[in-house]
This record gives sequence, C-alpha cells and structure tokens, in this order.
Amino acid sequence: MANQEDDFKRVISHAKEYGYVFQSSEIYDGLSAVYDYAQNGAELKKNIREYWWKAMVQLNENIVGIDAAIFMHPTTWKASGHVDAFNDPLIDNKDSKKRYRADVLVEDYVAKIEAKIEKEVAKAAKRFGTAFDQDQFLATNERVVEYQGKADEILKRLGRSLENEDLADVKDLIEELDIACPMSGSKNWTEVKQFNLMFGTKLGASAESAMDLYLRPETAQGIFVNFLNVQKTGRLKIPFGIAQTGKAFRNEIVARQFIFRMREFEQMEMQFFIRPGSQQEWYEKWKDNRMKWHLSLGMGKENYRFHDHEKLAHYADAAADIEFRFPFGFKELEGIHSRTDFDLSQHEKYSNKKLQYFDPELKENYVPYVVETSIGLDRMFLAVFSHSLREEELDNDTTRTVLKLPAVLAPTKAAVLPLVKKDGLPEVAHKIIEDLKWDFNVVYDEKDAVGRRYRRQDAAGTPFCITVDHQSLEDETVTIRHRDSMEQQRVAITDLKSIIHKEVDMKTWLHRIV
Ligand code: ATP
Repeated sequence: MANQEDDFKRVISHAKEYGYVFQSSEIYDGLSAVYDYAQNGAELKKNIREYWWKAMVQLNENIVGIDAAIFMHPTTWKASGHVDAFNDPLIDNKDSKKRYRADVLVEDYVAKIEAKIEKEVAKAAKRFGTAFDQDQFLATNERVVEYQGKADEILKRLGRSLENEDLADVKDLIEELDIACPMSGSKNWTEVKQFNLMFGTKLGASAESAMDLYLRPETAQGIFVNFLNVQKTGRLKIPFGIAQTGKAFRNEIVARQFIFRMREFEQMEMQFFIRPGSQQEWYEKWKDNRMKWHLSLGMGKENYRFHDHEKLAHYADAAADIEFRFPFGFKELEGIHSRTDFDLSQHEKYSNKKLQYFDPELKENYVPYVVETSIGLDRMFLAVFSHSLREEELDNDTTRTVLKLPAVLAPTKAAVLPLVKKDGLPEVAHKIIEDLKWDFNVVYDEKDAVGRRYRRQDAAGTPFCITVDHQSLEDETVTIRHRDSMEQQRVAITDLKSIIHKEVDMKTWLHRIV
C-alpha cells in the first residue's frame, strides 16, 4: 500500500515538475479537486481528445460531432432525473469529521480482498512456473474461492441496498465489515445520507428575474435535446451516433485522487441511436470497440478489465465499466451504458415535443434506444500519464526517469539539440526546427551537457532527440535518439520528417482499432 502511495505521489509531483498539471489557483493555496493543465498537459490532453474524436467521428460515417452549451434549460435536469436522483450516499466519521462516499468505503474494502487474491495468484504462479493455469487456480483454490465469494457477496448486497435506497443497510454493511475511517481509524459513523452532486448558479441580472440553473453534470443531455435537429439536418438514418467532448461539473464529496475525481472535468461521450430491441447487440459491439481503442495505445492488455454493474443507474438496462490499473488499483475509466429510450422519452414528456424517428424500412415511428460510451478525458490523461512514468535501471548502474507516452500522444515529438552552442551548430538546429515545425511540435534545447538534455527530454516524454554535431556541417547528417530504446542512429537531415512521421502518425495507431 505504501508503495502504491509513493508511486502516486511521484506521478503528481512529476506532472507538476514537467509542466503537465498544476493545482488551480496555487498562489492562493489552491482549490480542492480543481486543476489546471500546463503547457505540456494541454498538448497531451488535446492529443487524447483528438485521438478519440478521430476514432469516433472521422472514422465512422454514421457518427457526427456537436458542441453543446454548458448551460441548459433547467427542465433538462428534471427530465433526465438528475434533480431527483443524481445523488451519492455520504457518511461522516464523527471523530475525524471526514466525509466519505459510503459506497466507496465498501468498494475499497472489496479492493483489499481482491488484492489478496492477486497476491495468491502471484505466489502460485511463481511456485508452479510454466505449468500454472490461472483460470483453474482461481476456480479451485480454496482460499481464493472463499475470498472471491466474500467479495461478490458484499458487492451484491451494496448494489441491492443502493438500488432500493436502503441507506440504513449500507450503514449496517459498513459496521458489519468493521470498516474504519482511513484517516483516524475510528468506527464512529453517522447515518448515510444522500447528497446531490449538481452545482447551481443563476442566469440573469436582477434577483427577481434570475433563473436557477445547473452547471451540466454530464455532456450527454446536450446530445439528447439536439437529437432531432441533428438527425434532420444531417439526414441521418438509424443506427447513427452523436459525439461530443466538453466540460462537466460535479460537486464530488470525496475528491482526493488528483485528476481522477475532479469537480470540473471533461467528458468525451457518444450516444448511439438504435432500433428498440437491438440494444444488446450494440451494447456488446460498443464494449468491444471501445476496448480496442484503448488497446490500440499499447498500454498492455493486462491493465484493463470490464466490470459489469450490479447496481444500474435509473436510466440503464445494462452497464459496464472499462477499468484501468491506476497507481491506486483498478478503477473506472470509461462507462458503456445501454440507456434504453429513457432520456428521449423523458424529454418528450417534459417538453411536450415529439422526439421520434420515422424508420423508412419498418415504416413506423419510434423513440430510438440509446447505447452510450462515456469516458473522462482527465481520467484517460491520468491513465496514460501514470502508466508511462517509469524509473529504469540502466546497464551502467544508474537509473533514469522516463515518461514513455505513446508517441502519438506525446506533447512534443522531437527536441533538437546542438552539441555545443557555437561553431554554427545552433543555426543548423534552428533550420531543422523551421522545417519540422509545420508537421510536428518540436523544441530547441541548448542548455547543459547533451546527456542531461537527453534525460530532461526522457522525463518530459519526448520520443525523439535530434543532435546536431560538427559532422552535420560536413555531410548534413544528425543523430536521432529514440526515447524508449535509447538507440542512436546517424541519419540524413532530409530523412528526419519521415522517420518521425512513421512513429507518431495518428493514422497508423488508429488502424489498430479495426
Ligand atoms: P464514479 O463512479 O467514478 O463517480 P461515474 O460512474 O459517476 O464515476 P459516469 O457518470 O459514468 O461516472 O461518467 C462517465 C465518465 O466520466 C467516467 O467513466 C469517468 O471517466 C468520468 N468522470 C466521472 N466523474 C468524474 C470526475 N469527478 N472527475 C473526472 N472524471 C470523471
């Protein structure tokens, strides 16, 4: 556990030191769970957004993208169920005065049981070597089966209690499991209460005429209320999708995991409109498609898993998360939800406008069903960033810190370094930058010895370093160093563009999805 915490602290401090993420309003001691993206962070975030947008909108003929406003008519949130049901169950510890999400306390307890299972698996794998059959071990080892049974039972009960709004039972569960406040170790808990997560604000100048608004807690509703406009103006035929990226706001009760859980964050959502009855098929297809998108970035299959929801949200008939192995364990990165016709039907009811589609093949009108994919851009950022940060032992008994970002997402693709600050080398370096900057983000760096500059670029996540030396003046060649392998090659300056292009081109990476 201590190790995980150290790893996570290292991620946070590295993000600050290398210009990725800063605490918001830091000079005023910051604002809890609000963060700013710095010069490198803004680029990484933009690249992730673009990678998603291209995969969704550009590569799918039947998906279009929109950009709806953050402010929406307040009735939207009545219709969507957020005013009545967008709550988290909270519980306070009377001694430490710390507030927690009751469900998260229980889930963390279960995560500890799962960690025990993983430990048993690792131990057995070592003992049995190549003969180890993990599936068989999981199904037959007495201790593991007992752990798994207990974990399943707890999650089932939690799901059931939350679904039935039986908050007293959630508290009973916390007490039965003997869960203590992680800060104080105290088990002196208050009752569990519901807490609405929406931020309110006002529209209008005078107090009397001002209208109470909410900052949107999800981008999805901006898609639903525009459904018919987009379908008609785009002459779209079912099945089709509408995608959007943008800010969402939630007054999260517990927000202490850096950019994993923020109060202002960005979502990338796609609502796929389908014929009623076809939801199971599309739900499976989108689960598969989204997992492929993740795997295309090469961050290791073993770091992802699906988690099917026990407790379904008020709008869903099936839901699964794609979980990622964050520094603090497997946690939700993306949700895939079969939302039925809930949202469109609700908006029909509250707006008194028909939100139906005429299906030319069936020759009938219906309210389409929806399968949604919803991913947090900031969480994806954290997944990529934390996974990429490594301490590597090198052959000469030294270590290096390297940020092995997928090259397609790296903020800066290459650094151009003159070996020395004289003899005309800086001029050649600048000329190379002039040529490359039309295609890639590149930087110039002449300070310190070249070895230190390499380390600096490794830590910043730059996939290539291009070094200009005296030989460059004679034969127009340079060395190009690869971040991950640290290999250096002598290449012609005229070949640089194609070498970099081959590694960072979005097209090549996206091809892995299909
Ligand atoms: P959680 O259970 O972690 O609170 P959720 O199930 O409420 O998440 P959804 O409403 O399904 O999340 O939102 C879709 C995605 O938006 C999530 O998978 C996550 O990546 C992202 N997300 C949700 N809340 C936050 C937040 N407070 N900060 C950052 N990202 C978030």
